[in-house]
Amino acid sequence: MNTSPTHNRTELEQLSKPLIKKVAIIGAGLGGLAVAIALRKLGYDVQVYEKAQDFRPIGAGLGLFPNGLNFLDAISPGIVETIKNSGCVVKTSVLKNIQGETIRANPANSYHNYGHPLTTVWWWRLQQILASQLPAENIHLNHRCIGFKQDEHSVNIFFENGKQVSADLLIGCDGINSVVRDTLIGNGQPRYLQSMSWRTVIKYNQEILNPGELGFVKGNKDFMFLLNVGEDYISWVYRRFSPDIMISKNAEDAKSLVLSNIADWGESLRSLVEATPAAQIAENPICDRLPLNSWTRGRVTLLGDAAHPMSPSIGQGANSTFEDAYELALCFSQASRIEDALANYEQRRIPRTKLIQNRSALGEMSYYATDRTEIDKQMQEQSNMTSEEFQNWVFNYKLDQSLNPVNP
Ligand SMILES: Cc1cc2nc3c(=O)[nH]c(=O)nc-3n(C[C@H](O)[C@H](O)[C@H](O)COP(=O)(O)OP(=O)(O)OC[C@H]3O[C@@H](n4cnc5c(N)ncnc54)[C@H](O)[C@@H]3O)c2cc1C
Repeated sequence: MNTSPTHNRTELEQLSKPLIKKVAIIGAGLGGLAVAIALRKLGYDVQVYEKAQDFRPIGAGLGLFPNGLNFLDAISPGIVETIKNSGCVVKTSVLKNIQGETIRANPANSYHNYGHPLTTVWWWRLQQILASQLPAENIHLNHRCIGFKQDEHSVNIFFENGKQVSADLLIGCDGINSVVRDTLIGNGQPRYLQSMSWRTVIKYNQEILNPGELGFVKGNKDFMFLLNVGEDYISWVYRRFSPDIMISKNAEDAKSLVLSNIADWGESLRSLVEATPAAQIAENPICDRLPLNSWTRGRVTLLGDAAHPMSPSIGQGANSTFEDAYELALCFSQASRIEDALANYEQRRIPRTKLIQNRSALGEMSYYATDRTEIDKQMQEQSNMTSEEFQNWVFNYKLDQSLNPVNP
């Protein structure tokens, strides 16, 4: 801070005042909760508004990579140990044929070189772990944001339930169909990436994966991930190339569709899908949006999928979101004006997430390609990095400073 004698009293008062006091976050997903924890550490009054009526067990497993885990640990030291205990530290990744037989097993120990092992976890448990780090009264369920208005002093946020709150800073963490982004920039339709997804988490005691394994089944224009997510729960994610979006009429139809698609797969894999209650299978088109050049207007910004929705092909959606959360808080801990903090946040985050978004879109298609030469060429051109260099660049992303409270 510049405290030179040329500053008059009012300027000094201004500089010593906290930059912001009240922060409103829309969305209690992984990004909203992570950034809430980070900003509370700086001493801000942080309130999170979530449209869901309660935290329900969502059927998704996630792979957490070293970059995401490094940043989570910086936000809340010790949290990664809790996550590892809840999920599964991957020791081996196995490639299976459609009969369910393992045809290759690769040790997954290279991730350790970047600070943390690859860890698979149930999305819902991760959400619970993050939420448990915040006072319950700071998370407001049943608050669907429908818009906001800002001026030079504050931002007013409106909810479907008729409530209205005012804050110094608004962060839209409301996912790929973000209302905050739509109000701020205008959304349009997400871009469909010609890939459909069906996924769930179920308790499953049959031997389909050994402890510490992550499975990948390569079919013809389709594939399946098998994730151990702890305590005998397995997440299966089935994806299939589909030029058009296909939305089933009901849950039973969605399950039947998956079963008919894998009719020639082995018994162990079909049984896993058969054992899944239809209502627990989430059917989604895989979508992203083109990267933006700016995420901010005034005192409103975006984070996570609201800012940079990407295909899950390289598993960086949540991981890059944890980087956003830490870096946004870091920018506020260092700046003396909101504009500077948010400009610095964009400078740090947009170039990196743009590259990851673009690579993820190509990655989705590479799963289905019979000849990867053209896709590999495009990937190389996009980032000027080989696949190995790109992976190293993603996982090796380091925190450059620690978070210090603004108002100790
Ligand atoms: C099939 C699949 C597999 C994936 N696998 C991985 C993986 O292995 N690794 C990885 O890193 N990422 C993965 N991802 C991506 C990851 O799930 C997301 O990138 C991550 O959850 C982003 O977090 P977020 O908080 O930005 O958004 P979300 O997690 O989508 O959370 C948004 C929250 O906002 C709430 N909300 C929405 N609208 C409103 C509103 N108007 N008012 C109030 N609340 C609202 C929602 O209810 C939700 O709680 C995967 C995604 C898919 C589809």
